Amino acid sequence: MITIDGSQGEGGGQVLRSSLALSLVTGQPFTITNIRAGRKKPGLMRQHLTAVTAAAEVGQAKVTGASLRSTELTFEPGEIQSGEYHFAVGTAGSATLVLQTVLPALLCAPGPSALRLEGGTHNQWAPPFDFLVKTFLPLVNRMGPTVNATLVRPGFYPVGGGEFHVSITPANALQPIELLERGQTKRVTATAKVAHLPRNIAERELRAIGGKLGLTDDDLVVEEVKDSRGPGNIVMIEIECEHVTELFTGFGERQVPAETVAAKATQQARRYLSKGVPVGEYLTDQLLIPLALAGGGAFRTLELSRHAQTNIEVIKAFLDVGFEIDRTSPPGCVVRVSR
Ligand code: AMP
Repeated sequence: MITIDGSQGEGGGQVLRSSLALSLVTGQPFTITNIRAGRKKPGLMRQHLTAVTAAAEVGQAKVTGASLRSTELTFEPGEIQSGEYHFAVGTAGSATLVLQTVLPALLCAPGPSALRLEGGTHNQWAPPFDFLVKTFLPLVNRMGPTVNATLVRPGFYPVGGGEFHVSITPANALQPIELLERGQTKRVTATAKVAHLPRNIAERELRAIGGKLGLTDDDLVVEEVKDSRGPGNIVMIEIECEHVTELFTGFGERQVPAETVAAKATQQARRYLSKGVPVGEYLTDQLLIPLALAGGGAFRTLELSRHAQTNIEVIKAFLDVGFEIDRTSPPGCVVRVSR
């Protein structure tokens, strides 16, 4: 039985989600203590509990400690089952992070799967649905599988009620990828979504971003969302390059001016554009498990965040893989995975 200290490093939900994902794939049971000890509200929130029950369903696992606010859990997986699943967070908690938990197992499953996920689709501190579709899943697909995601309806904090569907056709084995250069920048665009809020919020965000990044009106898109259950706002800057597309997000919040939301996305995009690396901070977090499962591959990124370093430690507890961080050929560093 592997023991994971949930307070290690960054002490967030990723420690739990990565443990669940890797326990399923490797068949190794684990106990986790101090779940999300580094967060203001520690323990299992609704979103994490949904991730646990989703993982248990996919892996026919025996679980103890799966209740709201629980800070300790034991998970004993059985066989991974491909098939049709419906996972509903039940609050505005992130449904994309539920996907993050079960995707690695379903990529290694004996057959195809179809998932229906409900909850938040565009949440702060989680990959927005668009990040999955534009940035992350194209790279997963480059490793062999075919994963497609379709948005039925966006869900924003605090009402939630979003829904998306994911189809997964596994490959025999995940193939390593190398992402050392991003190649030429083909296009930079910004999209601001507003749901049940004045269009003017989106227009102000785009004006601010357009001015700072030198974008023309053709590159700025307002999307007025009619079908979400509650209000919401998000602005995303998409940087499409030859070898990768990155997406940087500002999340609208009450009492926060549109210009401030725009500035958060702009800062991230500018940093990325000025550094000449293909892989940004969040994509780094999310590539670590697929590459570790492939047993190889490499990518160039900026310095590793504490979040990514913590994720590496969790991965090493389950898999016999090495991560070499090579800082000898800037820009940034190259993360190399080997078995
Ligand atoms: P944690 O904070 O430990 O629950 O983990 C959050 C997860 O969401 C990590 O995988 C992050 O890479 C991801 N994430 C957070 N914010 C963003 C964002 N703006 N875009 C893409 N991914 C994100």
